[in-house]
Amino acid sequence: MHTIKELFDKQKKASQQGILLPLKHRKDLLRRLRNVLRNNLSLLEEAILKDFGKSAFETYATELALIFEEIRINLENLEDWAAVRKVPHGLAHFPGRSRIYPEPFGNVLIIGAWNYPYQLSLAPAVPALAAGNCVIVKPSELAPHTSAAMARIINEHFSPEVFHVVEGAIEETQYLLSLPFDKIFFTGSTRVGKIVMKAAAENLIPVTLELGGKSPCIVLPGANLSMAAKRITWGKFLNAGQTCIAPDYLLIHTRIKDEFLQKMVFQIEKLLGPDPVNSESYVKIINERNFNRLLSLIDPSKIYYGGKTNAAERYIEPTLLTDINWDDPIMQDEIFGPLLPVIEFEDIHDVISKLQTLPRPLALYLFTASRKQQKEVINKLKFGGGCINDTIMHIANPYLPFGGIGPSGMGAYHGEEGFRTFTHYKSVMHKGTWFEPPVKYPPYSKLKLRLIKLLMG
Ligand code: NAD
Repeated sequence: MHTIKELFDKQKKASQQGILLPLKHRKDLLRRLRNVLRNNLSLLEEAILKDFGKSAFETYATELALIFEEIRINLENLEDWAAVRKVPHGLAHFPGRSRIYPEPFGNVLIIGAWNYPYQLSLAPAVPALAAGNCVIVKPSELAPHTSAAMARIINEHFSPEVFHVVEGAIEETQYLLSLPFDKIFFTGSTRVGKIVMKAAAENLIPVTLELGGKSPCIVLPGANLSMAAKRITWGKFLNAGQTCIAPDYLLIHTRIKDEFLQKMVFQIEKLLGPDPVNSESYVKIINERNFNRLLSLIDPSKIYYGGKTNAAERYIEPTLLTDINWDDPIMQDEIFGPLLPVIEFEDIHDVISKLQTLPRPLALYLFTASRKQQKEVINKLKFGGGCINDTIMHIANPYLPFGGIGPSGMGAYHGEEGFRTFTHYKSVMHKGTWFEPPVKYPPYSKLKLRLIKLLMG
């Protein structure tokens, strides 16, 4: 812990000295990060393959591409986002002008989750650095090879007072959480999110919490069912369901259930083969604890498709479960694995009423051709973000702020929203000294009251 404290003190001093105030310095850091990642692609791919068997394609498409996109958009817009803004300065404040100065918070702690280990640790670091903060990143210990790879390449190429990776598990994280950072950005479970927020409250540190939850996926009659089956299959079984915004469960209209499930089976076999254990495009479960947790959620009497498992490989076949009720164990917590429970309904209004009673999810997906139904669901349900007629892809557009609501998180990032998340907007009124209207000073009078009402009302 001694070395963590020394590192923290070094970064504190550096941020107090304004080491990252020049935009040129920040841009250099972003370009260096892009080069370091590009030059170490094979090291990053090998590490993630060891942690959970993710292919080079997926590593690029679902991890590195998002980081590169963040770097690009920050480099392109930094001058604009970081510019001092003039705001209106009413007559009551005459003489003078009002300005907003975007400034770095100072020292930022980013705590990552293991399921997209590069993206979740480094994508928030991009706007944090672009906004001029000194940054410590703590990746998840559950993906030890990727954590070590990030520590190696970042710590080799960046000076510790501006950007450093600290590896560690709960003890190290709790120590980091006891330090007076100026901003904490956490990605992980709702349970640990509460621990982070409690710790941050001790020092009144602002937090952004990117958490999880049960994200519903609704399919209505009239939707393009073949397309829906393909996009839901991809979104659910990507990373073997270990995706914070994966469709957690399927709500399907009774009339189209059979046809749709057959289409899903067709897509599973088309995308991952009849035996996905052999597919290089299908990853394993991160550890034994999660493997056993998922196993306990499979009720053999409810398996519609799949259900095969292999403990030695930590493999669970893409599995569809039918005849599911809201009270079933699988419907109680986020699944975070390749199991898709299917609940039937006859009236979308019953679904909306039910979802209104449940914790607000990180994502929601709706498949329908009806604009009216799209509008109704968007207006009546609260959720972090989502897609109409697709899954997952909203995360990949940096012009859409990404974050949860309620138990699925608070705050957001990606694109400009990321820059705002790591920026304090300092408001300053500059007053002229050549004139001072007497109206605000006592003794007060009826005339002054009339004047103030005229100026400020
Ligand atoms: P987790 O909450 O177990 O761990 C996240 C981080 O917290 C890790 O770095 C870990 O070291 C640390 N941590 C764990 N226990 C701690 C404790 N007691 N005190 C202090 N720190 C502690 O989450 P996970 O298993 O890595 O990830 C899975 C969860 O994350 C899922 O719920 C998923 O939905 C969510 N998630 C959310 C997003 C998002 O962007 N909203 C992205 C990915 C994952």
